[in-house]
Amino acid sequence: MTYSLAIHGGAGTILRSQITQEDEVKYNHALHDALVAGNDVLIKGGNAVEAVAASVVSLENCPLFNAGKGSVFSNEWKHEMDASIMDGNNLQAGAVSMLHNVKNPVLLAKEIMQNSEHVYLCGEGAERYARQQGLSFEPDEYFFTHLRKEQLEEALRDNKIMLDHRTAKDRKFGTVGAVARDIHGNIAAATSTGGMTNKKFNRIGDSPIIGAGTYANNHTCAVSCTGHGEYFIRGVVAYDVSCLMEYKGMSLMQACEKVILEKQVKLGGEGGLIAVDNAGNLALIFNSEGMYRGYVTEKKDFKTDIYK
Ligand code: ASP
Repeated sequence: MTYSLAIHGGAGTILRSQITQEDEVKYNHALHDALVAGNDVLIKGGNAVEAVAASVVSLENCPLFNAGKGSVFSNEWKHEMDASIMDGNNLQAGAVSMLHNVKNPVLLAKEIMQNSEHVYLCGEGAERYARQQGLSFEPDEYFFTHLRKEQLEEALRDNKIMLDHRTAKDRKFGTVGAVARDIHGNIAAATSTGGMTNKKFNRIGDSPIIGAGTYANNHTCAVSCTGHGEYFIRGVVAYDVSCLMEYKGMSLMQACEKVILEKQVKLGGEGGLIAVDNAGNLALIFNSEGMYRGYVTEKKDFKTDIYK
């Protein structure tokens, strides 16, 4: 049996003209490192859940992406992180929202999935559970980056709630995610994000919502989304892809194109997704200008890309 893995580091208005060659190299390296982390698990016969968690941890630890260390600031100068993970083998899932100071939110989601009797924890209770399970915490300074500070200052000045971006003109979504199929035929998906700059009132996007930002089912596919969360929640995007395969008999590619290039476009939702089906076929689809993305299969054909 073959294995395959895909990752994303967010979608949005990512134009070649706005990224320096130096930054391009940094992004491609970071994406490559995340692929290597997941590939290391899969190549040894490890399972899809461990592989997607390893790739997402690598992206969460990189300040370039809006998840973990690189999370954007909320209106109250806080990092409120969301994450989720799903195991397509048994339909088990774990999710967290409004998390502060937990180094790797995806590992807490995995812990909830595998060792608690719940699916979705949030805020202070989730942090208490993380401490109890011995997960790593970091002080506020660890999550501080100048880019995110400037972004919040700009968003506050313009009184706007913004998806991860560099300037108001350059909108992009820096959420991270991974999907994998292991050699045993199991598939899994994971997604992690800091959400939106200047978000208020404990806003939660699609990333931690099972069926919206993340879904996995061995009978169909595993999906991780990135984009304007409000639209992805309303479109129940990840589950919709699975449903089109299950009930309409569509292929993975047909289902992903239908949802992202037709239904989300009609609804007004900018973004994309990565997906894998139970045969190991991959789809990396977006309706935005670009999406940080990459994939590897057991042919060791490591590929990363940014633009359309
Ligand atoms: N989907 C995320 C959210 O709405 C944002 C992103 O993908 O960057 O929170």
